[in-house]
Amino acid sequence: MGVDADRLRDLTLALVEVESPTGDTAEVARLYARRLEEIGLEVELLDDPFPATPIVVGRLRGGEPGPTIVLNGHLDTVPIPHEPPRVEGGRVWGRGSADMKGPVAAATEAVRVVAESGRSFPGELVVVAIGLHEAPGGRGEDLTWLLGEHGFTADYAIVCELAGDRLVAAHMGQATVEIEIRRDGMPTHELQTAAGTPNPILVAARVIEAVRKQNEELAATEHPWVGAETYFFGEVHGGDFYNRHPATCRLVGTRRWAPGNTLGAAQAEYDELVAPIAAESGCTIDVRLELVRDAYSVDPEHPLAVALRGGYEEVTGEPLEATGMKVVADGAVFQAVGGIPTVYHGPRGEGAHADVESIAIEELARSARIYLATLERLWAGA
Ligand SMILES: [Zn+2]
Repeated sequence: MGVDADRLRDLTLALVEVESPTGDTAEVARLYARRLEEIGLEVELLDDPFPATPIVVGRLRGGEPGPTIVLNGHLDTVPIPHEPPRVEGGRVWGRGSADMKGPVAAATEAVRVVAESGRSFPGELVVVAIGLHEAPGGRGEDLTWLLGEHGFTADYAIVCELAGDRLVAAHMGQATVEIEIRRDGMPTHELQTAAGTPNPILVAARVIEAVRKQNEELAATEHPWVGAETYFFGEVHGGDFYNRHPATCRLVGTRRWAPGNTLGAAQAEYDELVAPIAAESGCTIDVRLELVRDAYSVDPEHPLAVALRGGYEEVTGEPLEATGMKVVADGAVFQAVGGIPTVYHGPRGEGAHADVESIAIEELARSARIYLATLERLWAGA
């Protein structure tokens, strides 16, 4: 009655066969909800306030008092086209196979094994699947609502992605950055513009240079897990004709910060950085940081992390070493909004966000076993 690789393969393929770009996951959510019902879970499909991305919550009650443990994943994928889904060479191929319908299937398989064993266990096992994960279309608004306004709570959460062979001890926080530089008036002919009129493109150059210097200063401080914080620009937009004096210029990028820092502090620091440039140039400079996810960290000695490390070692025979990551993910939301101790573990796939994406069925089975071994340890400690 253990983990069944064929079932894992079939559920992963079924989920991948329903296209579900971020923000448009209702169909796959309904399919997934039905599958959870079939294995004996009590399922809620929460389609308010995000009707296009209903949240799937599936519960298995253990019959004894104990902790509520969440296994979490996202059903949305990046909106990048992919060849039709298929199974080949022991892998499932298709958009979302690795990121992260395969991992959702692995978590589901672990719950199925418990459900079909008919055993009792302490507390509850809850599967939560969302549809607004991948930025920029999603910023975890649905998960934030579930854990905030909706009042969903639990004792532990396992976010089923990010690292299959490491304990993620910390990851960075991230915001998108949009800077708008504006002068008064409309664009004018280069030669018919009053002397002294600021040129937002040249002002943008000063902002870019100030940010470059600041970035260099940040590079000197290495956070032990995640390295140095960063400023980054990926886009510059300004002007519309070679001899027109522009009225606006726009810079777009990211700001990433280490655990301990906050979005509010990063915004304040940015405002302070551009204030003298705005004052000297006569342009208005608006800096808007928008949260993607907060920073995250967990003590490797926290009972949840200890259970995961023990479960990993039991299944693989290897220790689970701690590491830090730059990339952001939903553990931050469970922690910051829900106040729920959270760890990451997910099967390792290939090609997330790339042209070709796949995941090995054996790897999915391995993660399902690790989830089960981790749960056993949490239950034993309950
Ligand atoms: Zn993902």
